[in-house]
Amino acid sequence: MEITHAAYLISSPSIANCPKPDRHEYAFIGRSNVGKSSLINALTNKKELAKISGSPGKTQLINHFNITSNDKKEWYLVDLPGYGFAKRSQTQRKSWKKMIEEYIRKRENLVTLFALIDSRHEPQEIDLKFINQLGEWQIPFSLVFTKADKSTQREAASNVKRFMESLKERWEELPIHFVTSAVKRTGVKQILSYIKTLNDKE
Ligand code: GDP
Repeated sequence: MEITHAAYLISSPSIANCPKPDRHEYAFIGRSNVGKSSLINALTNKKELAKISGSPGKTQLINHFNITSNDKKEWYLVDLPGYGFAKRSQTQRKSWKKMIEEYIRKRENLVTLFALIDSRHEPQEIDLKFINQLGEWQIPFSLVFTKADKSTQREAASNVKRFMESLKERWEELPIHFVTSAVKRTGVKQILSYIKTLNDKE
């Protein structure tokens, strides 16, 4: 599958302001600087699409993009504000948590959440905590290990393995995972084909 059209739609401060849930939706989240904008740009084949969500005032909002794919399906791609910004105040963190929790638990058309993890690092507490939370809430999610071109294949594979093993300590079933590079377009086809499978199923 390929994305033939992608356009920014709206930024919403809460689920109540989001567009009508009348089509499938796929959301992307991760720690700031994980490579989320780069991956969204690679998936949509648009150089600066996700820049909009990173512009001042939009970083704390739920950003919807209208997508059309070459199978003539229309769906939403959502860029969610990330976690782990050192500069956020306690109040900002709380409001982020409230907004994200409400969105991911209540958004009825959300098919799956792609949780991004930087493949250069060994498992980080902040990511494990977030992923374990998703598991507890029973949110369908997939893991995306980003920036694979930045380390050797062996290093990235070892970090992925360690992350999955950390999850295994708590969960019997492991989520599906992808390894990506926005620079080399690694994993792009795989993610799009996974979205297509889900689009066709529901
Ligand atoms: P975001 O804050 O999660 O949206 O992260 P960005 O997409 O803005 O990426 C953060 C930094 O990492 C930027 O300097 C990107 O150019 C770089 N980056 C993102 N993805 C990749 C990747 O796959 N490979 C490499 N080498 N750099 C990447």
